[in-house]
Amino acid sequence: NWVMWNDRYVKEEEIMISIEDRGYQFGDGIYEVIRVYEGSLFTAQEHIDRFFASAEKIGIVVPFTKDVFHKRMYDLVEMNEVRTGQVYVQITRGAAPRAHQYPDSSVPAVITAYTKEVARPLTQFELGVAAKTIEDIRWLRCDIKSLNLLGNVMAKQEAIQANCFEAILHRGDRVTEGSSSNMYGVKDGIVYTHPVDNYILNGITRSVVKESCQRLRIPFVEEAMDLQDLSTMDEFFLTSTTAEITPIVEIDGNSVGSGRPGNITRQLQLAFEEKIALNEPS
Ligand code: PMP
Repeated sequence: NWVMWNDRYVKEEEIMISIEDRGYQFGDGIYEVIRVYEGSLFTAQEHIDRFFASAEKIGIVVPFTKDVFHKRMYDLVEMNEVRTGQVYVQITRGAAPRAHQYPDSSVPAVITAYTKEVARPLTQFELGVAAKTIEDIRWLRCDIKSLNLLGNVMAKQEAIQANCFEAILHRGDRVTEGSSSNMYGVKDGIVYTHPVDNYILNGITRSVVKESCQRLRIPFVEEAMDLQDLSTMDEFFLTSTTAEITPIVEIDGNSVGSGRPGNITRQLQLAFEEKIALNEPS
């Protein structure tokens, strides 16, 4: 497989990353994961826009235009003949003698990207998963898709150790998002999810779901759920690029609604399938 290393495509073994790369030492960089269905990038422009937006928020200048960047992602998928999988791409503030402050702007950013095959988790879509509520101890700029994922990593680990698929993070009483997903509850036919602000990552899958709700006339209310209200929800689900729309059927050991994926979740999954089926080569 080919990997992208700044403006070159090389074999993975040829990549050399400095021990003083700021991504390695400080997590000083940002990333994206873009889905590939049937050899085509899915919602590529949205991911590219978010990549550039995250970089800008931390003062990293991407040394390509968005169009060139898009073409690079496209070429990588082609070269590696990815069918159903993903592209991971990250940019760091580059390598410089270790010091917290940003180095001189002449230090070039370091971009790497690689692809892999990743199957769609179809069984999970049908059966749903369990989740565990965990206090959200992350920083206050969760809108940035930062390489610094320690808070997310620790929350996911705690969930996995409790035999759960994902953590439902909450700041005090307010439910924010998952460790690597956005979270939604459904009550009396209304979908609730945290508003887009600094407490969550503005998920691309979230945007797709919001659009589907509008089209299907399902009320989509962007208000944080109260932790105490989780047990009263009829349905619950999470979204992410790789987990798509995954029903949550158990929270902290208690069944959600009937304990099976709900109707609205199903409708949104179907709408998502349709969007994948219409995915244009890009
Ligand atoms: N929140 C967090 C913290 C995430 O890591 C992710 C996965 N990228 C998401 C939400 C979902 O975003 P998306 O739908 O763009 O994958």
